[in-house]
Amino acid sequence: MNGSTLLRFLFYIREYFFPAGCAVCGGTLLDARETWYGLCADCMAAITLEGTRRCSGCGRPLISEGDRCLSCRNGEEHGLDRVIALFPYAGSYRRLLAAYKFGPSRAAGHFLREKLIEGFSLFPPGEMESPVLVPVPPRPGKIKKFGWDQIAYLAKLLRPARRRPEGQDSAEDVTGRSPGEPPFPVYPCLKRLPSRSQKELGGADRKTNLRGRILCTRTAPAEAVLFDDVITTGSTLNACAAALRKAGAERVYGICLFYD
Ligand SMILES: [Zn+2]
Ligand SMILES: [Zn+2]
Repeated sequence: MNGSTLLRFLFYIREYFFPAGCAVCGGTLLDARETWYGLCADCMAAITLEGTRRCSGCGRPLISEGDRCLSCRNGEEHGLDRVIALFPYAGSYRRLLAAYKFGPSRAAGHFLREKLIEGFSLFPPGEMESPVLVPVPPRPGKIKKFGWDQIAYLAKLLRPARRRPEGQDSAEDVTGRSPGEPPFPVYPCLKRLPSRSQKELGGADRKTNLRGRILCTRTAPAEAVLFDDVITTGSTLNACAAALRKAGAERVYGICLFYD
């Protein structure tokens, strides 16, 4: 069970007085589970992760044989060892992300956290040894505009629960997972210098826009997993991966909630 019973209860009470509704359909949230995840049971059940193989370059589901999709085979090399993207950025998925990012449903972060952890099962077993999550840094000014950093908040939710005091140590944290499985340590070591928003630019400009604009401020973990909300061309992930490798990372993976 994620989150203490008290915290769940507080989410339930808050929803009673300040109803945000389901992040996807806007319907009323009925019980403590629904208010904790910010989604009604029907919408939660409808959002299931497809276990299909993913293109190692861009993380999108693969239809053809081989390790890479057609556009990655024809395009340039990607700078990551493997990328996994979970859901198409459209329809109910788009509404879900918007409700989380721009309000009113910060509780949907709990749901996204669960999906991200589920998404790790799409990496080939044994591929990673001791991965460390590195959040993609926000553009300066973005936090000022929206009031908070949605990726950093998710990173906070993904961080493993603190160990219990000596003597009461348990082999599992509150997520019910054993050590060595996700969630992983979170290490926010990247910083982004001012640049234009990637959203305003086309593919070619996206690549040059971030050149030298992402810095690794500490020694990078040997095995880093970048994570972000949406992957479009992959330019942001590539720029982050280059900064991590320069700072000592040997393997860099990526996981994104949505692919556009
Ligand atoms: Zn709903
Ligand atoms: Zn691809």
